[in-house]
Amino acid sequence: MRRYLIAGNWKMNKTIQKACELVNGLATESKNINDVDIAVFPPFTALYEVYKITKETNIDLGAQNLWYETKGAYTGEISPEFIVDVGCKYVIVGHSERRKYFQEKDELINRKTKLAIEKNLIPIVCVGETLEQRENGETRKVIEYKINELENIDFSKIVLAYEPLWAIGTGKTATPEVAEEAHKFIRDLVQTKYGSEVASNIRILYGGSVKPDNVKILMNQPDIDGALVGGASLDVNSFMGIIKGSISL
Ligand code: PEP
Repeated sequence: MRRYLIAGNWKMNKTIQKACELVNGLATESKNINDVDIAVFPPFTALYEVYKITKETNIDLGAQNLWYETKGAYTGEISPEFIVDVGCKYVIVGHSERRKYFQEKDELINRKTKLAIEKNLIPIVCVGETLEQRENGETRKVIEYKINELENIDFSKIVLAYEPLWAIGTGKTATPEVAEEAHKFIRDLVQTKYGSEVASNIRILYGGSVKPDNVKILMNQPDIDGALVGGASLDVNSFMGIIKGSISL
């Protein structure tokens, strides 16, 4: 039985003080919630202070990115060992904003995913198509390519996130049917490549303008196992609305 994971990607938002205020609010409001996994992904600068709060709670911590080596002359980069050191359990890999603004390619994403697993982090690997690719009928081809590029990776140790790029930060959510079709396609691909046990256990999150008022209908789909939330994770009420909406189906 797959447990939902509701993950809040704060992106480049929140000073240390604001991050602590947000996570304190979430900790208070979620203290009796045990039916769903909750994780927050603050900016690197706030991770340790947030960890001091989350370590006493049912909220897990994650980082938004990592580098593919553990140490050395990589000015400005963050080793997976540092991420573990500040108490993270998860790390986001291959987010579309990293692909778009930092030209991250599948080969780099593969290396990052491998090292994250080696360091006992759970990578949340993002895949999804652009609007143009969807309109050209290439959604399946793009997804399949990105899943195939994750070669030599233990799929029992990762979380996948289907994030159609046209739905991220745009207010346009995929309809539950469109999202489910992509999720089922991904699960079937995983089944073909890695067998039914891995496929039935892997969590596939949906990401793209998830809000309290659309979360229920999305989470009601059989192959959607949680959400990767951007904008709506920056406020206690809206993130709690999503968490609560996902468990009261
Ligand atoms: C994201 O950045 O992963 C995301 C899904 O953002 P938003 O919820 O704001 O669309």
